[in-house]
Amino acid sequence: MVYAFGGGAAEGTKDMKAVLGGKGANLAEMTNLGVPVPPGFTIACAACVEYLRGGAPPSGLRDEVARALARLEETAGRRFGDPTDPLLVSVRSGAAVSMPGMMETILNLGLNDRTVQGLARHSGNARFAFDSYRRFLQMYGDVVLGVPVARFEQLLGAKRLTEGVATDAELSEGALRTLSEEYKALVRNATGREFPMDPREQLWGAIEAVWRSWTLKKAVDYRRVNGIPDTLGTGVNVVAMVFGNMGDDSGTGVAFTRDPSTGERRFYGEFLVNAQGEDVVAGIRTPLRIEEMAERLPGAYAELLETQQRLEAHFREMQDIEFTVERGRLYLLQTRTGKRAAAAAVRIADEMVREGLIDRAEAVRRVVPAQVDQLLHPVIDSAVRATPIAGGLPASPGAASGRAVFDPDTAEKRAAGGEAVILVREETTPEDFHGMVAARAILTSRGGMTSHAAVVARGMGKCAVVGAKEVHVDHERRRFSAGGATVAEGDWITLDGASGQVYAGDLPTVPSEIVRVVGGQLMADRAPTYRAFSRVLGWADEVRSLKVRANADTPRDARMARAFGAEGIGLCRTEHMFFEGDRITAMREMIVAREEGGRRRALAKLLPMQRADFEGIFEAMRGFPVTIRLLDPPLHEFLPHGGEESKLLARTLGMGRDELHRIVDDLREANPMLGHRGCRLGITYPEITEMQSRAIFEAAVRSSRRGHDVRPEIMIPLVATVKEFEHQAAIIRKVADDVMGAMGEPVPYLVGTMIELPRAALTADEIARSAEFFSFGTNDLTQTVLGLSRDDAGRFLGAYIEKGIFEEDPFQVLDQDGVGKIVRRAIFDGRSTRADLKVGVCGEHGGEPKSVRFFHRSGVDYVSCSPFRVPVARLAAAHAALDDGEPGALSVRREG
Ligand code: PEP
Ligand code: MG
Repeated sequence: MVYAFGGGAAEGTKDMKAVLGGKGANLAEMTNLGVPVPPGFTIACAACVEYLRGGAPPSGLRDEVARALARLEETAGRRFGDPTDPLLVSVRSGAAVSMPGMMETILNLGLNDRTVQGLARHSGNARFAFDSYRRFLQMYGDVVLGVPVARFEQLLGAKRLTEGVATDAELSEGALRTLSEEYKALVRNATGREFPMDPREQLWGAIEAVWRSWTLKKAVDYRRVNGIPDTLGTGVNVVAMVFGNMGDDSGTGVAFTRDPSTGERRFYGEFLVNAQGEDVVAGIRTPLRIEEMAERLPGAYAELLETQQRLEAHFREMQDIEFTVERGRLYLLQTRTGKRAAAAAVRIADEMVREGLIDRAEAVRRVVPAQVDQLLHPVIDSAVRATPIAGGLPASPGAASGRAVFDPDTAEKRAAGGEAVILVREETTPEDFHGMVAARAILTSRGGMTSHAAVVARGMGKCAVVGAKEVHVDHERRRFSAGGATVAEGDWITLDGASGQVYAGDLPTVPSEIVRVVGGQLMADRAPTYRAFSRVLGWADEVRSLKVRANADTPRDARMARAFGAEGIGLCRTEHMFFEGDRITAMREMIVAREEGGRRRALAKLLPMQRADFEGIFEAMRGFPVTIRLLDPPLHEFLPHGGEESKLLARTLGMGRDELHRIVDDLREANPMLGHRGCRLGITYPEITEMQSRAIFEAAVRSSRRGHDVRPEIMIPLVATVKEFEHQAAIIRKVADDVMGAMGEPVPYLVGTMIELPRAALTADEIARSAEFFSFGTNDLTQTVLGLSRDDAGRFLGAYIEKGIFEEDPFQVLDQDGVGKIVRRAIFDGRSTRADLKVGVCGEHGGEPKSVRFFHRSGVDYVSCSPFRVPVARLAAAHAALDDGEPGALSVRREG
């Protein structure tokens, strides 16, 4: 149960993290490498588990610890409790998985009324000795004896006051002496017992406290959030104290073997002369840059430089180290894998491959997919500390500042005048689209992760916070209130789409280098992060089997998607095209037409516009498939809802306002999401399907004539029965024959369907007889399988997650047990009647790493997501492939 380290020999290695915890394993490894570490021993994690189960230390452990302590005394050349030159130890937690700051540590253990005198004499510094003593009394009193820290702090504050000093560092030796007495009295009063003076009793108190800290609420919460099993337990490291506060030839610091924010290969860190570890972290004194150590502590610095290089080369990973210099002698107290920002993660992975430290697969593994998102969006400058006025769902990452505006027209107008604006709405509808295009970011007080605002903003790579319940929008007075603040139109606000926080004012943001390269504003050779990013993603592409496409509706988005590495378009939502420019008028004319002739006339106006868009998209995606979905949303979404706009429309269309009102009223539905939408539109108005098919095929032939390899895949939305599919497919195929016959050029194409209703999934075998591909619309499928409105669920999902009923928002992370089961079943059934059925996913889950892994394992051929999530999906697909070491498609085909 007990493993020694330091002093030239160790009983553990770095591969024993499960036994010793990360800290203990690495202290052992450093010993084996000949790196100077203070001597000590580690009590195995299993002892913690046993203690927590039985309430007492495992039998025999006391003897083992006593023997290890005796050996430690020998190595250190000091004895525990020796009143002349005492051995002092720190007692530190350390689990197999790093849980920074979640458990307890106690320093200076072994001090008592007698040994403190010895420390004073031996160090020649009585102030130092009594300062160490009062720190120990407080730490032990708090952690082991349960006396609240605040009561120690009270006494400390009073001491500063009576001494007339501003900081603890100015307290005199005498003041610290009396403070120690006061602390002991406090412990006596609070616990009814004397502070333990026996170092061995102190040691066991500390060991048990570290074990118990495994069950502290913060530790339990941290494990839950990070998926760390509760059964691991923590190791306990008992380490001989070394002091960085023994004079100007001593010091302490923390450092990284590479720059943790940029990834640059340079030794990066901070240190303080004549200080203890906590002084560096506490921020009382400003630490010096590590380079300055070369002058202040030259010998130790040279050794530290050499040591950090050795550690990195040995662990083949960026290290985060803690060190202390005691009277010119260097000691490493800890080394572990360093946490890093996204940009650094990518750069380090890339450079370590080129340095021969790791292979490409390992480089891919070391970049966390979700982290890549950070690289694509501007972020709030991390140097800024501000308090949010509200919080909502982090719907689309990035950060943006702008003036609050409350309607899309104002957004457009003010943006056209060069102002940065943020559109604030209760929720958005397609009518707000132009305002969303003009705005830098979108804030809504309602709606969930797949609400209109969220989906559209993500599609545009634009920051959005949705469902911010504390935000009360007062449209009439053009302002909102939140967190006690009132924000009027024109006031600055800042959104953090990665955390969902809303701030008052204009907080500085940092733009993304990668997006500037992809968008053509920056040359790749001037963009080191971009170059590393594209290399690592290139390696990800080599290992993954799942293809990644993009959801893109315009030629511009399609180009962006290609630049992000999309291998085609998995969903082109054609309705979005109707909101560009003045197309909406023709669209509205079509909707309000009373008979087929009127509808056809209006559709004829839309045809050339759609065709031009399709041509642009085919061109951007030449050589790759483009899945185009026929009109999907309920028609009323395209209509104005009263006011000036209605008046104008009535005038333009030459009809009375009352008549227009009547038509709009007729189109209103109680439950439009389950109403007249999807293929139901094409079935009632076949001329819409005809027009859209014609636009697609004419564009395809024209592009093909220009020498582009075009591969249209026409997709029918919201199918429930095979008959709906066949009805629509017949129209599409007839138009294809007509167009290609007339234009004299065949273009290969597919006709398939979205699977977004349970009935479609349950009859997948039948549908697959006719449909050439499936694309799972997991947004609607989640909505319909769970009976959970994608627009309204945001209001109460928070409570579900808080109460543990849902682990995650099912609109964000696929509900694998429910929706996922249906997806798998439908894939299996579909392939039972059409073995080569192509299967994609085009709901928002297609860009979410956990869901991507599930799709990979379910035999899906491709996922399709917003252009900005394409890199995340590429990486997630690679991780999934690396994790199972076999192509996912095989596993499900075998399953049945
Ligand atoms: C879906 O339902 O998952 C889908 C992709 O379609 P939309 O979000 O446009 O309804
Ligand atoms: Mg849908």
